[in-house]
Amino acid sequence: MANSTFQIPDLKNEEIKDYIKNSNERKEVIETYNTMYNENIKIPLYIGKEEIITEERRDINPPHDHNKIVGSYSICNSSHVKSAINCALEMKDEWTNTPWEDRAAIFLKAAELIAGPYRSKINAATMIGQSKTIFQSEIDAACELVDFLKLNIIYMSEIYKEQPINVGDVSNKLEYRPLEGFVYAITPFNFTAIGGNLCASAALMGNVILWKPSDHQTYSAKVIMDVFKEAGLPKGVINMVTGDPVLITDIALKNPNLSGIHFTGSTDVFKQLWSKVGSNIKLYKDYPRIVGETGGKDFIFTHPSANSRIVSTAIVRGGFEYQGQKCSAASRVYIPKSKSSEIFKNLKEQISSITLGSPIDFEHFMTAVIHKNSYDKIVNYIELAKNDKEAEILIGGDYDDSKGYFISPTIIVTSNPKFTTMQEEIFGPVVTIYVYPDNDWKQMLTVVDQTSIYALTGAFISEDRKSIEYALRHLRYSAGNFYINDKPSGAVVGQQPFGGSRASGTNDKAGSKLNLLRWVSPRLIKENFNPPTEYPYPYMG
Ligand code: NAD
Repeated sequence: MANSTFQIPDLKNEEIKDYIKNSNERKEVIETYNTMYNENIKIPLYIGKEEIITEERRDINPPHDHNKIVGSYSICNSSHVKSAINCALEMKDEWTNTPWEDRAAIFLKAAELIAGPYRSKINAATMIGQSKTIFQSEIDAACELVDFLKLNIIYMSEIYKEQPINVGDVSNKLEYRPLEGFVYAITPFNFTAIGGNLCASAALMGNVILWKPSDHQTYSAKVIMDVFKEAGLPKGVINMVTGDPVLITDIALKNPNLSGIHFTGSTDVFKQLWSKVGSNIKLYKDYPRIVGETGGKDFIFTHPSANSRIVSTAIVRGGFEYQGQKCSAASRVYIPKSKSSEIFKNLKEQISSITLGSPIDFEHFMTAVIHKNSYDKIVNYIELAKNDKEAEILIGGDYDDSKGYFISPTIIVTSNPKFTTMQEEIFGPVVTIYVYPDNDWKQMLTVVDQTSIYALTGAFISEDRKSIEYALRHLRYSAGNFYINDKPSGAVVGQQPFGGSRASGTNDKAGSKLNLLRWVSPRLIKENFNPPTEYPYPYMG
């Protein structure tokens, strides 16, 4: 509707459902899970108006039951990728000229579909394909994705409202044009919401997208594409291809119309992407925007005044929820000597009640890690700690991949604050603790700052106000999301905009105005209502 101004609805964070025994939502998600578990779904490529099921396909195996096949996803070839990019570019004109209120309406409708009729489906797909417990799935696939889709509409409207001043007989306007080419979204396995948001946020701002989800998130990616279709997103705005990441990426990055990369994943892959863009720079019409949120080595620092119970709960929730496979997962912890035996005792008590198993058994706090490579990598770190004199396993250290990729919650204690597992991202349920002399807490902050290449999240736990002020100053660049008396994970869209710097990414804060600004290229339009008709200025007289 061109002749009116659109009022943004009152948009709030999606309420998290509890899934308690006998609740309707619990019955519904169990039923959906069981149905989907026994289907054999075929996931297509989404290219323009076509949904293509290719002959070459790869099985989808739930990580908690890796011999089971629940479906397969299509493997694209190079002509599919080229055609997906062409379809995106063909949609460019129509989508760019779609009024922003209509674009907003499509994504609001998508949010309502996920919050309502698709909720159990997107949760079940995430539980099956990515091995999330119902709670981890609910806060990600349902609530976080709904929040991204809704709250980004507020941020979009705030951006559009930001206009230059007008002085005299002149009108100045900023038109927030979408980027001129296409945006390439590459997404990780660990958050369904990130998969949806990395393409939807740029598309909301009027861009057309090539989306490459992770091979280990294809099931929930399909649900997202179904939702977008039902919400009325024109085909070709978001084109989804799955298959060899290098093949897809090389074609996308050699296309002169590449205008942006929206990436979340590991640091090494992001650095490769950045280098390839650098090597291809002469090919592009634009300087591509590069947005990447990458790895972390997130810390919990315990001040001597801290409450031990708060510390151990932050370690258990922050380190082991979703098997430690959150970029924000706590994985290195610093504890003062005076508190160590109490905290170790609490940790043993709390962790002894944790059980691992299939996400369909609701009593489990943890399930399996994502795939064989990840399992092997995590096991290697555990074995390294078992065999090094600078480390000992305080809790856990067991693993078993006979049915699923199960690794028990593991706590390593090291005598070396720069031990390998204090520095490297493990991306599994392994937390390493270093015990420091109480009087050294200030010097320890320098060690925290300089131990790892990452700077994503960190927590400082203390009952002493002065120490909090000190830590905020001395850990200024150690984390993009800094938590006081809380675990370092669990950011909520609109409340804690998320991202880190150093090797953790470009810190463009997903779920905020700062991120959306990367997907526009503003045009200033000045109109003079009283243009001069002679060149001399008054001073010349
Ligand atoms: P990954 O880097 O293995 O994969 C991410 C995406 O890149 C996938 O789509 C994958 O297929 C693709 N990819 C892999 N190799 C590629 C290559 N050579 N060229 C082009 N694309 C390639 O990451 P993952 O295992 O899916 O996710 C875990 C990682 O993501 C962790 O490092 C984690 O910290 C990070 N992560 C960061 C954030 C954040 O906000 N900072 C959020 C979630 C995950």
